[in-house]
Amino acid sequence: MTVEKTILLGISGGIAAYKSAELVRMLRLEGYRVQAIMTRAATKFITPLTLASLTGNKVVTDLFEGSSSEDTLNSAIEHIDVAKSGDLLLVAPATADVMAKFANGLADDFLSTTHLAFDGPVILAPAMNTNMWEHPATVKNLELLMSRGVNIVPPGIGDLACGTVGSGRLAALYEIVQCVHASFRNRKDLEGECVLVTAGPTREALDPVRYLSNRSSGRMGFAMAEGAAQRGAKVILVAGPVSLPTPAGCERIDVESAQQMHDAVLENLPEASIVVMTAAVADYRPAERAPRKLKKGKGVPTINLEKTPDILQEVGNRKGNRFLIGFAAETENLERNARSKLESKHCDLVVANLVGGTMGFDTEFNQGLILSSDRDTVKLDPMSKSQMAACIYDAAASVRLSKVA
Ligand code: C5P
Repeated sequence: MTVEKTILLGISGGIAAYKSAELVRMLRLEGYRVQAIMTRAATKFITPLTLASLTGNKVVTDLFEGSSSEDTLNSAIEHIDVAKSGDLLLVAPATADVMAKFANGLADDFLSTTHLAFDGPVILAPAMNTNMWEHPATVKNLELLMSRGVNIVPPGIGDLACGTVGSGRLAALYEIVQCVHASFRNRKDLEGECVLVTAGPTREALDPVRYLSNRSSGRMGFAMAEGAAQRGAKVILVAGPVSLPTPAGCERIDVESAQQMHDAVLENLPEASIVVMTAAVADYRPAERAPRKLKKGKGVPTINLEKTPDILQEVGNRKGNRFLIGFAAETENLERNARSKLESKHCDLVVANLVGGTMGFDTEFNQGLILSSDRDTVKLDPMSKSQMAACIYDAAASVRLSKVA
């Protein structure tokens, strides 16, 4: 028997609030019970009656609904009951205001109070004007929410109600529903596996204070490590220089150069059954490292470069039964370059992403392609890096199954 899950659907006051009616219909068709919670502003865009009719449940609209002291007491307690009754809190659309309230723990209306009282998974689907979405305050709030494990269904790019074109449009409703499904999956399919992950950039020293490096933030690799740990794997995370906290349940080895990353990977390879090479390893390093800081007065220096070890290639050459996932960050010819990497480096899976703009390096979100030798290419729409990690492990599980069968 399947137990019906209850979605607490928070609706906040943006023009995209009208889409929540269709979202409710889709969630109901997927078998979810929906309890709508509307902010006061949301009721200006869509009526509680519409939501009550579609959900089949009374809609909660405010913290202090009643005027008598008894009503006030009832509604003050109600947010705890509503929070207890839900399996997941989804806010769609989530305005900049809701994100700021959730990030800072405010509790001045029913929705923000329910958020604080709720201890299950939280998904936000933001929708707002581009400038609001890109404002440093919203960016900071987003980072804070994501660091606490809140799932974000990123907004798309398109025509906005304010008359501009840009980022801030509510994500496609099917993406939001997919994210809800994924939150309930909670698979432990990597129990008994040891996943070795590389992440971040490397630094190749020129002298004691200068180095060659790249813009990788390490977030995709850390999301891969975290995702594997959540699915029950033992995780060894070999991290280049990044300023990210170690994901729960991961053993971390910090390295700086490609050579150090190479040594750490090979040392831990015997234990690994799955290898995930997310790191943006420098391909070249200075052939010589000056023992002292290079001085300006001596004219423009000439720097000779030499190749660094290709760690993925070496692991591919001696992979045995291991499952090998490589990454390909490209600025052009994405699929062609990624497919050649799949073959030449003996990978089972290559995740390819175009870098630039708001996707890929040094950003919260990613999109791309998953390539394998005998499956159709999977296209990944823009999503948070932890959601992307989940999709990659799902794809890996199915490719692995087909190889065993
Ligand atoms: O050939 P390219 O550098 O584009 O390949 C990218 C993939 O190879 C990534 O998975 C990256 O982690 C890995 N790599 C590596 N060692 C290098 C260069 C890339 O492991 N020196």
